[in-house]
Amino acid sequence: MTIDAADLKRMFDEIAVAIEADKDRLCQLDGVIGDADHGIAMALGFNAVRDALAPLDLAATEPTALLNTAAKSFLNAVGASSGPLYATAFMRAAAAVKGKATLAGAEFIALFQAMAQGIRDRGKAEPGEKTMVDAWQPAAEAAAAASVAGKTLAESLGAALAAAERGAEATKDMIAAKGRSARLGERSLGHVDPGAASAVTVIGAMRKSLGSAL
Ligand code: ADP
Ligand code: MG
Repeated sequence: MTIDAADLKRMFDEIAVAIEADKDRLCQLDGVIGDADHGIAMALGFNAVRDALAPLDLAATEPTALLNTAAKSFLNAVGASSGPLYATAFMRAAAAVKGKATLAGAEFIALFQAMAQGIRDRGKAEPGEKTMVDAWQPAAEAAAAASVAGKTLAESLGAALAAAERGAEATKDMIAAKGRSARLGERSLGHVDPGAASAVTVIGAMRKSLGSAL
């Protein structure tokens, strides 16, 4: 079995549902060290993606085109800094699978790694600066390591989710150095970064949706 455009659409639908359910918590987290809009921004973004993907003829759509549609709709819908970060993630994902009609497990892991790298490149945040990179980076590393070790896609995404959870939890002990919360300096200590928290939700939904695909 492989992953096709219909599987990717189901994955985005699953993320939209998970983010919508998590919206209030994410706004609350952002209210502590930011401007309290992170849940709203993420929900706007993923609902826009869902709406943009809904009319696509999936039988005639390649993964690259679907992912570029996701990128464009997310960027247009979100004014907050998470907008360009996730839009870049989806654009890099699109580039990573260019020309492929279906994706094997290892190819999806490459897509996942490209997302994390895109977020890192766009935001110029290093690990330890208390951003979503602190969830995405270890998640991508864990997924790649599991995949190289011969694990299934479900197992690799499970490893990614566990690493993202640990990474998000670890942001509590970090001082924000990038983004809106950086202005708080040491007062950001003790609080989970909202973007790292939402990364866990996104990755969890990806695993749930694709866990049985391969
Ligand atoms: P805004 O800060 O514009 O209100 P959001 O509330 O949607 O945007 O997103 C805030 C999250 O974005 C932060 O918790 C952090 O994880 C992430 N973020 C902000 N700046 C960067 C950056 N330069 N690189 C990576 N992630 C960042
Ligand atoms: Mg915010």
